Order: sequence, then C-alpha cells, then structure tokens
Amino acid sequence: MTDLDIARAYEPATIDKIASKLDIKEEDLEFYGKYKAKLPLHIAKEAKQGKLILVSAISPTPAGEGKTTMSIGLHDALCKLKKRSLAVLREPSLGPVFGIKGGATGGGHAQVVPMEDINLHFTGDFSAIESAHNLLSALIDNHLHFNQSPQIDPRSVLWKRAMDLNDRALRHINVGLGGRSHGMPRETGFDITAASEIMAILCMALDLNDLKKRLGNILVAYTFDRKPVFARDLKAEGAMAALLKDAIKPNLVQSLEGNPVLMHGGPFANIAQGTNTIIATQTGLRLADYVVTEAGFGFDLGGEKFLDLKCRAAALAPEVVVLVATVRALKYHGEQPLAELQTENVDALRKGMCNLEKHLENVKQFGLPAVVVVNRFPTDTEAEIAAVIEECEKLGVRAVTSTAWANGGEGSVDLAKAVLETIDEAENDFSFLYNLDLPVEKKIEKIATQFYGAAKVSFTSTARRDLKRIQELGMDDAPICIAKTQKSLSDDPTLKGRPKDFNFQVRGIEIAAGAGFVIPLSGEIMRMPGLPKAPAAQNIDIDKDGNISGLF
Ligand code: ADP
Ligand code: MG
Repeated sequence: MTDLDIARAYEPATIDKIASKLDIKEEDLEFYGKYKAKLPLHIAKEAKQGKLILVSAISPTPAGEGKTTMSIGLHDALCKLKKRSLAVLREPSLGPVFGIKGGATGGGHAQVVPMEDINLHFTGDFSAIESAHNLLSALIDNHLHFNQSPQIDPRSVLWKRAMDLNDRALRHINVGLGGRSHGMPRETGFDITAASEIMAILCMALDLNDLKKRLGNILVAYTFDRKPVFARDLKAEGAMAALLKDAIKPNLVQSLEGNPVLMHGGPFANIAQGTNTIIATQTGLRLADYVVTEAGFGFDLGGEKFLDLKCRAAALAPEVVVLVATVRALKYHGEQPLAELQTENVDALRKGMCNLEKHLENVKQFGLPAVVVVNRFPTDTEAEIAAVIEECEKLGVRAVTSTAWANGGEGSVDLAKAVLETIDEAENDFSFLYNLDLPVEKKIEKIATQFYGAAKVSFTSTARRDLKRIQELGMDDAPICIAKTQKSLSDDPTLKGRPKDFNFQVRGIEIAAGAGFVIPLSGEIMRMPGLPKAPAAQNIDIDKDGNISGLF
C-alpha cells in the first residue's frame, strides 16, 4: 500500500471538529474547504505556554530518516496518553514533490491529511510568498528601467526571482533583452521558493508589523558607489506584506488519527533556518500543553538553527530533543554502500554510531536532554535493533524504538512515555551555542569547530570581503545561518560518520538583512535544485473523478 492509499482509507473529520479538540472557537476558523482552516494571529499572543519538544535527527541518507513521520507518531501517541498535544510542522515544497524526495506529510500510518492538498497547493502560502518575492524583483527592474534614485548598479543586484519548482534551466538567465523599451539587460536567475528570503522572513516574523519591517530591511542591491539599497528604498514592503496577509496565518489540518496539526512555512534547512513559522509554534504553545516540532535535516543543521536562530528570536526553549536514528543511516555512516543499506550489517552499524554520538554531544552543548528514537523500517533485523539500543546504553542516552510508520500512534507510545519522563526528570540548562556580541567571524568559527568538529576554518578572499561588508552594514552582531551539506557533519558531503581534522571553508557570506541573519556558504549549495532523470512527476496522475495517484 502506498502512503496515499493508507491516507485514503481513513475518514477525516471536518476541521471544525478537529479545532474543537483544542477549544478553538468556531469564529476563529477561516475555512479552506472542509478539512483545512487558517487560525487568526491573536492566538499566538495569548499568555498560556505549553512545552516544546524538538524532533531532529542524525545526518540523514538521501531518502530522509523519518523526522516528520516520527513527529506525527509521537504527537498521536501523546494524544493516546490523553495529553493535550499538537504537532507543528513545515509545509511541503513542490520541488521535492515532483523531484525525488516526495511530499512532506509523514509516511505509513503517521501522516497528515489531506495529503494531496497539502503536497500540492495547500492554502496558497507558497504562491503568496512567490508573488511577494517576484513583486520585489519587478520593482527592482522597473527602478532600473526608469533610472530612479538611489541609482542601482545593475551588476550588483542581489535579489533574484523565485519559483516553487525544481528547474535547473532557470539558475542563470538574462532579463531585459529586446531593446530600450523592455528593461535593463542584466544577468540574474531563479531560486526555489523555499530558499527565498521571503520564506525565511515569514518564518521569523512575530506579527504583521514585524513582517513588514523585515520585508523593508531586505538588502536588494548596491549603488554605483557601493551604498546598500534596501527594499524599503523602493517602497516595496507594504504591497509585499499585503500579498502575505493570509500566508502569515497558521494552517490547521489533522493527522490520520484525527489529532490537530499545524503546518506553516517551509524553508529549506541547508540554506535557511529549516523550521516552521515562529507564529505557528507560538500559536501551538498557546493551544496545547505539548508541541512536537521538527527541524530540517540533521541536528547540525536544522537543530542548531532552530535553537540559535528561532528560539533566540522568539524567546522559546525546548524541553527535550528527540533524535531520530535509523538502522540504514547508521550503516551508511559505517561505510555500508548506499545500494546495500537493506542488508544486515551489525558491524557497519556499530561503526556508524560515531555520527549519533557527535549529534548527542551537540545536544548537550545546548544543555538539553535527549531521547533517541530508532525509527523501525521493515528491513531492520532484530540483531541490528538490539545493537543500536546496546550502543545507546553505552553512550548513556535513553533509546526507544518506534513503529509509528507501521502502527501509527500506538507504535510510539514507548517514545511518548520516555519523552514525558525526560521532560519531568532530566536536567535542562538550555543556553545558546554562541553569544550574539561575538563578531560574525568568531561565531562561524565556533559553530564549525565546536559543533561540526572542524580542525580549522578558512575564509576565501570573497568571504573576507563579505565580513567587511557585514561590519559596514552594522550587522556583526547578527546570528548565523550556515549553508552546508546535510549529508555530512562536515562541509564535504562524502565524509561520513564523524569527520575529524577537516578544514571548514567559508567561500562567501550572504546577508539576509530582512530575515535578520547572515548566511555563510560552504561547499556547493543549491538554491534551485534540478529534477532527477526519472522525476516523481512522471508517476503522478489524476482520474476522471478527480482522484490523484502517485503522490508519496
Ligand atoms: P524526514 O522528515 O526526516 O525527511 P520523512 O518522515 O518525510 O523524513 O520520511 C521520509 C520517507 O521515508 C517518507 O517517504 C516516509 O514514508 C518513509 N519512512 C519513514 N519512516 C519509515 C519507516 N519506518 N518505514 C518505511 N518507510 C518510512
Ligand atoms: Mg520532514
């Protein structure tokens, strides 16, 4: 059975019934059909405060290790234990849906529905973000066309265009061709919407005013005498914020077991902060006693950014980190070839534990307690599961298995109990990894050496120039959002396990003045992915009755 078949076999409740489980007033629901609703912004500002559970993972294999699946399963299990729980997750991007990875609504019996809607247009948030992004692009080219003040150097425009599809042919393009009346010719390109700074801004915004302020702060270009030009200089932020008036409101949907789920915002975790909106998390914490949330990719990427960027900006503090591990990823880090990850190999698995060990050390650096969950796959053997549990005991961390993928919430009851006990009993001395008053250069060094395990950090001459520019812009106290491969703890995707003695190279630093952070770039980071040779899109279909197939 496919995920879509499983999802269809459940009968979802109408969204008003789901909302009533959290005592959300009917007049607060903005309906998007029968199974989706938006929630108003005022809930996020109310006084109640639930407990935050962060789900993260070891360094993943290309297929993903099941953070979303485990988050939904844990939430369903907490509800089974009669806890007032809510899962707060990211919205999927169409790029991966039509590419390799598929959707982002969980899997098996731990899914969020209606998955066809959520994985396709959902409530239109991505489209609104795309429009707001491209409105600014259009204003910039119009500004150049009419040669207005401040006079932008067309070669210095930083702002590209955005589209929520994987399309490598749009990475580098020329615009303004065709003569005098068709704009100023210049080279530009497209980023995928999930990589747009607007997405990052929407996810960092505290309310509408804050959103508008951040939109105005976007650094779009420089003048001929190298003065910065911001979106507010083009009077762009009002119209952009207007386009985002609904996108800023969290979306309420449900798990297969009929438990409420918020899905809102979807930035990538390799180049952006990789976590849902602050507004959705805060809304969740007002509505529920326990909020389960996910940070993208491994703890080195999404986890670190969740804590240092999002928790700092929104004064949040998680109670516990649930670290997802899989037998296949552990074997991968123990040098088992990708094609053979389904074959039993306890030795490779034990060897790969070093990756988990480093992530656990990193959780400790934040002063947070951890629970390891082994997401059970049908191909895992008893010997392999026993070995992970034994190795985790040696590391002194509590580890449980979950079969939420096969059994839904029932399969994660042990995990839920372990999480609740850890919240009650374990010590929690949450603190950030770095202080903001360290210079950007030092903050990057701290993350790379202390968190990734680099022996040293080097900056290219471009990165040095960027550091200088950051100082000139008065942004040396900004937090850091490192763009790095998710495949390795290091900046080299081929280094598995726990790389040591590597040099972490920063080849440039982007300035996301609107989102409020700087983005040091390491390795080759893709802001516009391409489709694979056999894209998932070719298997997606719809029949005469409107039933969709091929989504996963
Ligand atoms: P992540 O959030 O870490 O990227 P997902 O939860 O989206 O991972 O899962 C990635 C893919 O793996 C999904 O297609 C999901 O259905 C599948 N998957 C997750 N857990 C399991 C499992 N225990 N057994 C089989 N497939 C699984
Ligand atoms: Mg996920």
